[in-house]
Amino acid sequence: MKQVYFWMTLLTLGVPAFGQTLDHVVDGELSGLVVAYKELHAHPELSRHEDQTSARLAEALRQAGYKVTEHVGKYPDGSQADGVVAILENGPGPRLLIRTDLDALPVVEETGLSYSSRVKSTNASGQEVGVMHACGHDVHVTTMIGTARALAATRAQWHGTLMLIGQPAEETVEGAKAMLADGLYERFGKPDMAIALHDTNTHAAGTVGIVSGPTLAGVTSIDVTLRGQGGHGSAPQLGKDPVVMAGEFIVQLQTIVSRQEDPRDPAVVTIGDIHGGAKRNVIPNEVKMELTTRAFSDRAMSVIIEGVRRTAQGVALAAGVAEDRQPIVTILENESAPATYNDPALAARVKAALAKALGAKNVFDDAPIMASEDFGLFGLEGHKIPAVIFWLGAMDPQKFAAAQAEGKLLPGLHTSKFEPLPEPTLRTGVIAMSSVATALLQR
Ligand SMILES: [Zn+2]
Ligand SMILES: [Zn+2]
Repeated sequence: MKQVYFWMTLLTLGVPAFGQTLDHVVDGELSGLVVAYKELHAHPELSRHEDQTSARLAEALRQAGYKVTEHVGKYPDGSQADGVVAILENGPGPRLLIRTDLDALPVVEETGLSYSSRVKSTNASGQEVGVMHACGHDVHVTTMIGTARALAATRAQWHGTLMLIGQPAEETVEGAKAMLADGLYERFGKPDMAIALHDTNTHAAGTVGIVSGPTLAGVTSIDVTLRGQGGHGSAPQLGKDPVVMAGEFIVQLQTIVSRQEDPRDPAVVTIGDIHGGAKRNVIPNEVKMELTTRAFSDRAMSVIIEGVRRTAQGVALAAGVAEDRQPIVTILENESAPATYNDPALAARVKAALAKALGAKNVFDDAPIMASEDFGLFGLEGHKIPAVIFWLGAMDPQKFAAAQAEGKLLPGLHTSKFEPLPEPTLRTGVIAMSSVATALLQR
């Protein structure tokens, strides 16, 4: 059943004023953006179900004077994605892609905020789940609306073409692929550069962080089924116990990173889901596991993938499993994405623009993290289009400092208590992204 949402504010922001300074524009827009943010926050939608969020973003970008196309993107099963593309042409100059993601997570919100999400939905397996913008993609959408309006109002200061992207299904790393597969660059033009931001609990609102080079790890999702031969729990000698094999597999798997991978090139292997058996005295036929693996280099990723295969086969061999019951190892291409690489030359330009807009002391040099993103796909194979994603501090500065004094961080991305502080976060996001765009869009 479809819910009807009320989005009063987004529809009453009106046409952005022309010919003002950036600070002036943001001052005038901020209160409207905060209300819009709270509405988005209260109405999150899961990956591949972003119809309301994308429609509202499209409407806001249209109001800001952009040429907007909706429903851009095709998933491998042929279904349409909720991608949004908004173009603003402003004479000759570079073509800049700016991306926001749209989707939320199956998390029950526990922030206690007045604008908390109370939304429930069903996930892909039909279970009822809470829905929350626990990754702050609502901050990204609102920042994009503010940036779109600010850049429209200050268009005397830049030249070229803005290509704003509302990308669905980031959390399942399917959305960027779906938009590219639907002819994004053939239909709307190929950008010269691509930029995105992501909010974070590792910086206070008012500050940003940036990495040069490898920034976020690549992810490969792998399903492993260890097959044995079921039987009575009292007579293991008559079967092949896949539960014992799974125990060996789980422990042995950790030696891929610790003993086979080069310690100078970080990698992670995690089994997040394991299932086997139905009753204590029955040896099951098989045990199924869902793995996530992370690495920065293709080399490290292939060491891991080969290691997973070999370990599964080795465990089965040691247990004496029959030829026709060998383990099944499946790579889920659709839930995998390459590492995100911040082009060093572009990262230097972005950093300079951020320092100029926010003050150098508010721009941090960050280290890469093992989380993953599909934004890098907009740079195409081999990083043909230089791309940069930077971190937007989102925490209440006082609470952040108090936590830091105790050597702690406030609750982070994907947790039920992740709580961006709206006003200073959005203000900094809009000023940061608009300043970066203006610096890059020069003849
Ligand atoms: Zn996320
Ligand atoms: Zn995210």
